[in-house]
Amino acid sequence: MNIEDRLFGKTSKGEKVFAFTFSNANGLEATVINYGAVLQSVMIPGADGGKEELTLGFDTLEEYESDQSYMGATIGRVAGRISGGKFSLDGKEYILAKNDGENHLHGGPEGFSRKVWDAFPFIMKNKAGVKLFLESEDGDQGYPGRVTVNLTVTMDEDNNLIFEYSAEATAPTPVNITNHAYWNLNGNSGGKVLDHVLYASSSRYVRHGRGYIPTGEILPSENTPFDFTHPSAIGSAMPPEGYDNYLILDKNEEKNKPDIILSHPETGRKISITTDAPGFILYTGNFLNGRSCRRGMLSKHDGLCIETMEYPDAVNQANFPDIILKPGEKYFRRTAVNISAE
Ligand code: BGC
Repeated sequence: MNIEDRLFGKTSKGEKVFAFTFSNANGLEATVINYGAVLQSVMIPGADGGKEELTLGFDTLEEYESDQSYMGATIGRVAGRISGGKFSLDGKEYILAKNDGENHLHGGPEGFSRKVWDAFPFIMKNKAGVKLFLESEDGDQGYPGRVTVNLTVTMDEDNNLIFEYSAEATAPTPVNITNHAYWNLNGNSGGKVLDHVLYASSSRYVRHGRGYIPTGEILPSENTPFDFTHPSAIGSAMPPEGYDNYLILDKNEEKNKPDIILSHPETGRKISITTDAPGFILYTGNFLNGRSCRRGMLSKHDGLCIETMEYPDAVNQANFPDIILKPGEKYFRRTAVNISAE
């Protein structure tokens, strides 16, 4: 294992941001920056000794500060939308910062993806990574209680990239943290992800209505575009607007089988995801149109996010599992991404 750090840039407020790059003996290389705890890059060896980039991202901090697409970012306190930007807890209504029309999206305008985290790189015999810490103050973005967040991103010699999130709160508050990396397994040549093939151990999905807000219904995905129990190309049955849906994981698979596998038949590249989250948002970069990244101008479906997380808008949906973290409890979630190439 190897690890290197360098100054990535300074925020508009003058805070220093560092980039931590860890790599293993197979030549897998990942970079995390402590602004937004962003996964800035994932590279694998390519032909002729070159490297192939598997995620979308930026080369400068300025671009991350002005980014509206949550490129590679850690999302919290609550990933997804909170309808009407409010929720009630123990008889009290909390008004959150709105950043998606009437709704609160991905933790709000100054959510976890906008903060500078404390970062401590570590290296051991068979793994290396970075531990990131964040204090979200009482009232941050309208949420109750102070929340202390720890995120450890680890790479090992078996090509796993592991995200372990933990959090504690001083008052009951909702917590639902994820990573928002946009994958494109075609590598440096990019293009659309419609030819990527998805498998997901998921036979139910959450229906949403206007503004991507769940209706509260949980529907079977058999014979719908949301059925990926048999691997199929993203583009084969995609709704015209693209995917932006919460798929519920079945969790009844035999041990050691990933919950989700995204593969790219043309290059033989594959990411296999194992998570303890109850489901994930499948988002096909529908709003990337006209945005630019290190690869140049993007158009929709140039990257795909697999956001392993709790049910969306859980604070306002009576029949969805509770996401309230109480004082004395510990939130913990783990998502492992195994990266391979034939
Ligand atoms: C959401 C989209 C949202 C996008 C913003 C995704 O996680 O599901 O609805 O527009 O993030 O980049």
